[in-house]
Amino acid sequence: MITRIYYHMISNKDYLSKAIHDIEDYAIIFMNPDGIILDWNLGAQRIKGYEAQEIIGQNFRKFYSQEDLGLKKPDSLIELALKTGKAIDEGWRVRKDKSLFWGSITITCVHDDSGKVIGFSKVTRDLTERKKADDLKEKFINDITRKNKELEQFTYLASHDLQEPLRTINTFTEYLIDELQSDFVKEDLIQYAEFISTSSKRMSDLVHGLLEYSRLGKSETFKSVDMEALVENVWSDISNLVSRKKAQLDLKPLPKVNGYETELRILFQNLITNALKFNISDSPKVEVSALKQTESILFAVKDNGIGIEKKDVNKIFQIFKRLHNRNEYEGYGIGLSHCKKIAELHHGRLWVESEAGKGSIFFFELPLSIKDEY
Ligand code: ADP
Repeated sequence: MITRIYYHMISNKDYLSKAIHDIEDYAIIFMNPDGIILDWNLGAQRIKGYEAQEIIGQNFRKFYSQEDLGLKKPDSLIELALKTGKAIDEGWRVRKDKSLFWGSITITCVHDDSGKVIGFSKVTRDLTERKKADDLKEKFINDITRKNKELEQFTYLASHDLQEPLRTINTFTEYLIDELQSDFVKEDLIQYAEFISTSSKRMSDLVHGLLEYSRLGKSETFKSVDMEALVENVWSDISNLVSRKKAQLDLKPLPKVNGYETELRILFQNLITNALKFNISDSPKVEVSALKQTESILFAVKDNGIGIEKKDVNKIFQIFKRLHNRNEYEGYGIGLSHCKKIAELHHGRLWVESEAGKGSIFFFELPLSIKDEY
């Protein structure tokens, strides 16, 4: 309705056409059936960046990205407007300086008195700020949903795995009571008491691991951490394991990064200890290296250990998840879940590439910070 009046009034140069011309919050364009721009208000100039004389005579397709042009988006909007009288759309459009804005667009057919289409009015609102706020909100909602799912899984796994030593404690306490009520054999009692003691210790270690997990990233602030010195320290801290295994470290140059020192130490300690623990080679080797990429630093901890089957590579980062029983390799299945959380605390990620029987490479990627020293 407005556009019909607008078109008629433009030739009359009356107040309404002047008013439309002066509107700044809406880009209002009149274009012919081929999409050639015939008139243009101040709002259009403000939102899209062209002066009227630069744009009049050009095609409105200029405002679309290469991707949208490839998808023939302007053509389908015109087609829809011709078919139904109007087309409404929201999407990224291109300004004169090539920056993008989020436009809410209504294209309406303009008819002459005989009902023939003589062109289109196109009214655009710049909703970039709203779009950014919506995107941010969506990102927060997705993050919270993902965190909630992780928490649910975490709680399930934690309670499930804590049940196991508790069951053992219960069972053997019942045996103890039964035996004490009958003619008991002392050796049996000692063994039951040992089972109870081992399970209580295990339970206490698991709870300790859980507490550590929840404390990660809480006690410190980011500071410059010399990763090479950190790995050297970790290696000397585990010197017992190193000499028992006759292991070798191949330490490449590592940068200084901005991060939580204690947590980064826990991360390397877990990855390096695992590289030796899950290793049956006569000469276990661990290579620690770093590669500077465009937007990140990629650390790699490579071993010549037992490797991991493809189907298991994602499972191992879940808390308490282990691929072997405790008689084969001791542990609690906590280390890698800590490492994953530490990577995420640094806005980075952790993953593994591995081949069963050949060895594994654990990758830890950190976004590049201006404070990193390479
Ligand atoms: P833990 O070492 O206490 O078992 P982790 O969370 O550190 O717990 O590791 C989970 C599981 O991932 C291990 O039990 C093991 O099966 C597998 N794993 C971890 N690191 C390696 C490695 N370097 N090579 C082969 N398997 C590994």
